[in-house]
Amino acid sequence: MAMTSTDKPRVAFIGLGNMGGPMAANLVGAGYAVTGFDPSPAAASTAAEAGVTLAGSASAAAQDAQVVITMLPSGKHVLDVYEGRSGDAPVLAAAAPGALLVDCSTIAVDDARAAADAARAAGHRAVDAPVSGGVGGATAGTLTFMVGAADADLEAVRAVLEPMAGRVVHCGDSGAGQAAKICNNMILGISMIAVSEAFVLGERLGLTHQALFDVASTASGQCWSLTTNCPVPGPVPTSPANRDYAPGFASPLMAKDLGLAMTAAETTHTGTRMGELAAAIYREFASGDGAALDFSAIIGAIRDEQNEGAAS
Ligand code: NAD
Repeated sequence: MAMTSTDKPRVAFIGLGNMGGPMAANLVGAGYAVTGFDPSPAAASTAAEAGVTLAGSASAAAQDAQVVITMLPSGKHVLDVYEGRSGDAPVLAAAAPGALLVDCSTIAVDDARAAADAARAAGHRAVDAPVSGGVGGATAGTLTFMVGAADADLEAVRAVLEPMAGRVVHCGDSGAGQAAKICNNMILGISMIAVSEAFVLGERLGLTHQALFDVASTASGQCWSLTTNCPVPGPVPTSPANRDYAPGFASPLMAKDLGLAMTAAETTHTGTRMGELAAAIYREFASGDGAALDFSAIIGAIRDEQNEGAAS
């Protein structure tokens, strides 16, 4: 069993789902005393098996905690938990004075700034630290953290993120971590559609998947969507396409992140024509055939569209 050390801050972990559960387990493994809360009995009991002490509510978990980590579905969840609008007392009132509030959820930039403002108004330090790397990275402790934090808080943030991280990138002040995350994922959504359209066009030109991969993966079409998460089975044996598109990075999460990017584009009056199209494509896919599939399964929808076009 992992030993806990008294020189480490006491951590509250709120949201012990697919990502939060293994992240909290890695903190326990590194010797942190972690008290957690999740209303899902299944998520809570898995975390308890990993050594997380369970509390009966978010505020009870946060009571006198020096670090409060949230890993929740949306900005509304984070703000409700912070300010006590979820039928519970405010987490911000329960945490120890000057606590480090670290939100690792993927939420809107404006919500991240509002959460940071509320935390600072309550006398705490605030950090947005969304992640990439998925459930695999959360389990292995190799997540990339995109951090929005004041310079003065960086050392404390790095120390607590370290057992969960492969990389910690300081992106700027509050909201900058979320901004980096949604800009990156807008590139990812657009590039996956581009790679998928190229494979479908190649198929119709009589080009084998392997031939297109061999050229594009070492030429100017090279990108993560092609060389790591290749949407056709074969060229990259570890990509989800080789296991019937089991995620990986599920389509509804891509649709969510593109939705957040579009909200940010609107509030900053930024034209993102490709991003808008990608958001619409993934919104439709995620609410239908793609609901339980990796986002690279979009190639099936693109292929079906061609066949429907040819039939009409
Ligand atoms: P999840 O649905 O598995 O986990 C969220 C958990 O929050 C659930 O267990 C839910 O019961 C819990 N929850 C809801 N309300 C709560 C409350 N008031 N107090 C405490 N717990 C509450 O989702 P996930 O995949 O773990 O994702 C969490 C966040 O991480 C999301 O913002 C997501 O966009 C982001 N993210 C996910 C991935 C991924 O691959 N799954 C990758 C990067 C980022």
